Amino acid sequence: MTELIDKLYETGDLSDNELKMLIEDESDNTAEYLAKRADEIRRRHYGNKVFLRGLIEISSYCKNDCLYCGIRRSCKSAERYRLDRQQILDCADIGYKLGLRTFVMQGGEDAFFTDEYVCGIISELRQRYPDCAITLSLGERSAESYRKMKAAGADRYLLRHETASQELYSKIHPQEMTLDNRIKCLYNLKETGFQTGAGFMVGIPWQTSDDIVKDIRFLQELQPQMIGIGPFIPHKDTPFRDEKGGSPYLTLRLLGIIRLMFPKVLLPATTALGTASENGRIAGLKTGCNVIMPNISPEDARKKYNLYDNKLVSGSETAEGISLLKAEIEAAGYTVSDERGDCLQE
Ligand code: SAH
Repeated sequence: MTELIDKLYETGDLSDNELKMLIEDESDNTAEYLAKRADEIRRRHYGNKVFLRGLIEISSYCKNDCLYCGIRRSCKSAERYRLDRQQILDCADIGYKLGLRTFVMQGGEDAFFTDEYVCGIISELRQRYPDCAITLSLGERSAESYRKMKAAGADRYLLRHETASQELYSKIHPQEMTLDNRIKCLYNLKETGFQTGAGFMVGIPWQTSDDIVKDIRFLQELQPQMIGIGPFIPHKDTPFRDEKGGSPYLTLRLLGIIRLMFPKVLLPATTALGTASENGRIAGLKTGCNVIMPNISPEDARKKYNLYDNKLVSGSETAEGISLLKAEIEAAGYTVSDERGDCLQE
C-alpha cells in the first residue's frame, strides 16, 4: 500500500478503486505511512503551526430534523437555549484574552437569528477585533443572507455537505431537506467570497466506501478552503440511537488522504474525533490536521448543545483549559499559532 500512498503524495490523486483500497485498508502500516506523508505535506505549507478557533455554540433551537442530530426539532429531551448578543460578545472577549484569533458562531437553524440580528453581532465583532477572523456555521440560508453577513464583516462559513450521495442523504434527512440545496448553498458561499468549509460524517448508517469516494470527488469539485470531517456518534434520543459510531481509525485515514489531495486546505481535528477516541485530536494533528476548535461557549450552553452523546468538553473557555490544550499540542511537536490562520489558497 506504500506505493499507492506515494502515488497520492506525488500526484495528488488516485483512481476510485485505488482510493477504495486505501480507505478499506485497516493495517497499522498504512495508517503510519499515511500519517507520515500527510504530516510532510502539512509541514511543507503550514510548518508546525496549529490554528485554534474559539467555538461559540449560539443556539440549540433548530427547525431541521436531521435523523442523526441530538438537537433535531423532534428531539424532546434536548434542552433549548440561545445566547443573546451580549453573551456572544462576552464569549469573544474571553476568547480574545486567551489568544484566540478566530471566532466561530455555530448553531441550529434558529429563526431568532435573523439576518439583521446576526449582522449586528458580526459588525460589532468586526469593529472590536479587527485582527480576528469571524466564522459562521448557521446552516442553509438564502444567497442574500450570505451576502449580507459577508458585507457585515464575516470571513468564513462552515457548512458540511454531510454526504455527497443523493440516496444516503435522503435516508438521513427529512424529506424537505435536499442535497441539491445544500450544494447550492456551498456554491453561493464560495461566490459570495467566503472561505468556505464543506465536509462529511464518517460511519453514518448505511455509508459505504463508494459513498466516501463520492464525498472526496465532490470536495475536489468544490475546492473548499476548509474540510471538516468527523466520526458519526449516535445520540440516545434520535432514530439512530442503536447504530454503531464511526471509526476513529477510518476517520484518521481519511484525514491523511484528504491532506495529500488538498495540500493547503485548513483541516480541523474535530471534537467528534476527540470524543470517539482518547487522544483522537492529537492523532489528527499527526495525520495532516492543522486546526483545533476549543469550545468557548458558556458552560450551560456547552452542556445543552448536544449533537451526539458524551461530547468532549475539555479545551474549554478557561485559561487552564487552553493552556492544557496548548501543552498537548506542543508535546506532539507542533506550535500554537497566534495568527488568524487563513487558508493559503483562494
Ligand atoms: N446547523 C448547522 C450546524 C450543524 S452542527 C449546519 O447545518 O451546518 C455541525 C455538524 O455536526 C454537522 O454538520 C454534522 O456533520 C455534525 N453532527 C451532527 N450530529 C452529529 C452526530 N450525531 N455525530 C457526529 N457529528 C454530528
